[in-house]
Amino acid sequence: MRIRVEDLELHPIVVSKTYASGTLDYHGTDFRQAAPLKVDAVAELMGSEICIRGRLGTRLEARCDRCLGSVAIPIEQELDLVYRPVSTIAREEEVELPADELGVGFFSGDGIDLADVVTEQVILAVPMKIVCQADCRGLCPVCGANLNFERCGCLPARENSPFSSLKEG
Ligand SMILES: [Zn+2]
Ligand SMILES: [Zn+2]
Repeated sequence: MRIRVEDLELHPIVVSKTYASGTLDYHGTDFRQAAPLKVDAVAELMGSEICIRGRLGTRLEARCDRCLGSVAIPIEQELDLVYRPVSTIAREEEVELPADELGVGFFSGDGIDLADVVTEQVILAVPMKIVCQADCRGLCPVCGANLNFERCGCLPARENSPFSSLKEG
């Protein structure tokens, strides 16, 4: 779905769309969309900028950084986005855009694709560090055993107990 400036000039566009898993391209990121993605929003024109407000929700599935187990990541994202036409960059080149101006993006041509907006927002919503549980023990670097479920005995005792060195002193 294309959100076009030409249409926004007439009236705001109400967006209510569901993307089935597998229909959006997350650009090679290592998670999978495991549930339909639902987006409800209103797009409107503010001067030359396209503003999109609303929310999106879905569920992702990724691998735990430590044990590679499957992790479900619920995504509930409020949308409050502003897109400026790229043509304004050249004009404002010498004006530094504040780096903390969250949610400001750019569009070129006649508007923006809703799919681009939602995939970008989902990618931003994914935590940097993905763990199945805060105290995931990960995999044994020697034999690859999942230390959440078994003790393989490869690791020296001090690796398992960060406080054992205190007793030595
Ligand atoms: Zn894990
Ligand atoms: Zn081991």
